[in-house]
Amino acid sequence: MSKTFAINAGSSSLKYQLYDMPSEHVIAKGLVERIGIEDSVFTLKYGDGEKVELVQDIPDHGVAIDLLLSQLEEHKVIDSLDEIDGVGHRVVAGGEIFKESTVIDEQVVQHIEDLSEFAPLHNPAEAVVIRAMQEKLPNAKMVAVFDTSFHTSMPPVNYLYSLPYEYYTDFKARKYGAHGTSHKYVANRAAEIVGKDIKDLKIITCHLGNGASITAVDGGKSVDTSMGFTPLAGLQMGTRTGDIDASLIPFLMNKLGIKEVSEMIDIFNKKSGTLGVSGVSSDMRDVEEAAEAGNERAQLALDMFNSRVQKYIGQYIAVMNGVDIIVFTAGIGENSKETREAIIEGISWFGCELDTEKNNTRDEAIISKDGSKITVINIPTDEEREIARDVERLK
Ligand code: ADP
Repeated sequence: MSKTFAINAGSSSLKYQLYDMPSEHVIAKGLVERIGIEDSVFTLKYGDGEKVELVQDIPDHGVAIDLLLSQLEEHKVIDSLDEIDGVGHRVVAGGEIFKESTVIDEQVVQHIEDLSEFAPLHNPAEAVVIRAMQEKLPNAKMVAVFDTSFHTSMPPVNYLYSLPYEYYTDFKARKYGAHGTSHKYVANRAAEIVGKDIKDLKIITCHLGNGASITAVDGGKSVDTSMGFTPLAGLQMGTRTGDIDASLIPFLMNKLGIKEVSEMIDIFNKKSGTLGVSGVSSDMRDVEEAAEAGNERAQLALDMFNSRVQKYIGQYIAVMNGVDIIVFTAGIGENSKETREAIIEGISWFGCELDTEKNNTRDEAIISKDGSKITVINIPTDEEREIARDVERLK
């Protein structure tokens, strides 16, 4: 039997799903959290709702992999490690090198490590996990699936910053974007749903989760995206600022008595966004609840989130000189009909009309009115499945 892992390693976490292929049936999934911090938490879900949770110290990602594989055997999810013949690794930074998912050899791991300065919290951890998996599963095909690949089609006019040009040529300082696997999947799915060739469509994909980004997809290619050199840019997110004026960095460091720029960036990444504005939570459900109960800052955080999404949609209509389809996906996009309604209401001038009844869904569905100039579609994303499919394709 052929089984394929989709692995998503962060700086201190590791998410995994194990698929039976080619059926794409999920046989196990879970999470290792607090890696390198004491009292790490390992969870495994399998079978008919069975769940394992272990709290123990997991000092590094290598140990996390050992524990994961031994738990899969212990709970008879697999009979032997030989059954796992494919592993897809999500990698955050692929730079300009990786334009598509790539079978991993020594040179590829080396490149992933070399790209660490573009994703210092992610790429090193991902390289460690790849090496640990290679050691444990020497016969499995390893594939790297990059968050940035889909966006390598952006033209320079959209990926360059207005900086001295040598900063791009010498240091590769440019926009790379992220969430590529999700944007690509939902854009292609949208074309299938309307029954048209993606080459003939202009699509704006709104991936609105804890991390959030919007992409302009023209003829099936990403031509612009809201995240930047790193995932800090663009929309307001759960805890990230999104776009801000760089001059705030020295100003706030001075006011707050902060000496290290990295400390300021940490605040921009972890204490800002919806959490920072609302003072309630980074989780949209909590913020929606607080706003309903009359918390004005919570309402302001929601309004700011929606407004920034509208502004990016407006920008991308201009970037592509039109739009046929707007797609909503990820935690907030898929589940919050209120968010979708508030966003679309603000762009009705473009000829976009939501059908409130059809919008009352969390499933894949066209949610605009028949005859709306722009078709709006809700599409649940599934990055892990896409990763497993890429492995299967390259096996
Ligand atoms: P990530 O993968 O970036 O961690 P997700 O795509 O899982 O994030 O999205 C998480 C976000 O989705 C959270 O802010 C959560 O509150 C939000 N979310 C999930 N369900 C709902 C819902 N029914 N209404 C509003 N927001 C929701």
